[in-house]
Amino acid sequence: MAFESRNPANGEVFATYEGSDKDQIDSALEQAVTAVGTLTRLGFKGRAERMRRAGDIMENEAGELAKLMSREMGKPVAQARAEAEKCAWVCRYYADNAEDFLKDEPIEAGDKGRCALRYLPLGPVLAIMPWNFPFWQVFRFAAPNLMAGNPGLLKHASNVPGCAKAIEDVFKRAGFEPGSFTSLLIDGKTASGLVGDARIRGVTLTGSEGAGRKVGEAAGQAIKPCVLELGGSDAFVVMPSADLETAAKVGVKARIQNNGQSCIAAKRFIVHEDVYEAFKDRFVQELKAQTVGDPLDEDTDIGPLVGPDAAEELDAQVRDTIKAGARAVVEPGRREGAWFTPGVLEDIPEDSPGYKDELFGPVALFFKIGDLEQAIHLANDHRYGLGSSFWSKDEGEIEEACNRIEAGSTYVNQMVASDPRLPFGGVKASGHGRELARAGILEFTNRKTIAVK
Ligand code: NAP
Repeated sequence: MAFESRNPANGEVFATYEGSDKDQIDSALEQAVTAVGTLTRLGFKGRAERMRRAGDIMENEAGELAKLMSREMGKPVAQARAEAEKCAWVCRYYADNAEDFLKDEPIEAGDKGRCALRYLPLGPVLAIMPWNFPFWQVFRFAAPNLMAGNPGLLKHASNVPGCAKAIEDVFKRAGFEPGSFTSLLIDGKTASGLVGDARIRGVTLTGSEGAGRKVGEAAGQAIKPCVLELGGSDAFVVMPSADLETAAKVGVKARIQNNGQSCIAAKRFIVHEDVYEAFKDRFVQELKAQTVGDPLDEDTDIGPLVGPDAAEELDAQVRDTIKAGARAVVEPGRREGAWFTPGVLEDIPEDSPGYKDELFGPVALFFKIGDLEQAIHLANDHRYGLGSSFWSKDEGEIEEACNRIEAGSTYVNQMVASDPRLPFGGVKASGHGRELARAGILEFTNRKTIAVK
């Protein structure tokens, strides 16, 4: 099976890669098993040296790697460069902190002697990753796991084989020994089949709810730890005391980042009736000021969606939401190929895709509420619970929102953004487990109890 790199801006195929065959997959698994010992022998110091070199490569080559991302999946190149630089950050963050995060935790247990909790590597981890942040999603898995001593086997999304290979190359050039990090060019079904292989000790998937259910099922059958980072339809709540100017500016950015294709994009704007019109006007003005264009152009804010199928799916969701009774404030819609005009919908009916599902593209959904109770009810009336953003100057409201919005995070007076220092993940159908920070490095460790008399 071959994998193609196709530029979504013009539909052109610019590279083709041979898929990994059965022997190559088997050999990668064997090498990963051997690499457990190699990584362990390197210790934190040796692993950190390599991880820092990976960070340097990402920083030095951010410009070239950004172009590769933009050409394979359509991300504006300035955002792609920021993504590459963020990968350098996460490498350095775990190089600096892993040893401290994983040091023994002494436990007082009287007659049991010298007791502690020790964090040991679990072994090779299979990472199934999406195309939307083609470097960042992989690095936020790879940096903590390599530092913990777990080799990584990457099954990247089929449309970003160039990024998959480039990431493998970065870790190789950084000095990580064979088997430490391998990219397998395989389809989803083959990847699911690997979950049960005894050489794989854990699996992490970032992607859609559907893929999450399948991989989660396979992990359950195989009794293996599993982290699932799935879809979201994040609420962005604006209360009367909010700074409307900033909220509207940040709200647009939070909606259109990555051409609107981010799991933690603000998707549902839940706005108090006292400021609804004022916020909406500012939001629409800011949205109209965005530049839609070639992702390789430095000034572009919004490029194409990842492909024509994605544009068609989003268009159908928009049409169905309007058919159910929603009103287009700014008419979103499909153009040629993967191109999609950003837009805003309001009066979203409960039985429409705009209310119930995830709209993965630059379409903002507006909801008017009368008080905080309604805002929290609406925010929680969804099967997803990934991030949430809450805008208010009222301390009481902020506390209520932080305690009661059902999501993996609530960012107040700022947009949700992943950051190496802050745990990241969701609740409900957005998945389980955490990435980043100390919580992320603990996921695939054997938390071993030691009791020495
Ligand atoms: P997707 O179709 O689920 O693809 C993600 C990865 O899963 C790809 O590598 C894909 O491989 C693989 N895959 C698909 N079906 C599979 C199966 N049955 N078994 C094993 N692997 C399978 O996701 P997408 O639609 O490209 O990505 C967008 C979704 O990801 C959105 O819902 C978004 O919110 C979510 N997301 C979540 C996070 C988070 O951190 N929570 C971050 C980014 C994106 P192929 O490409 O070969 O199909």
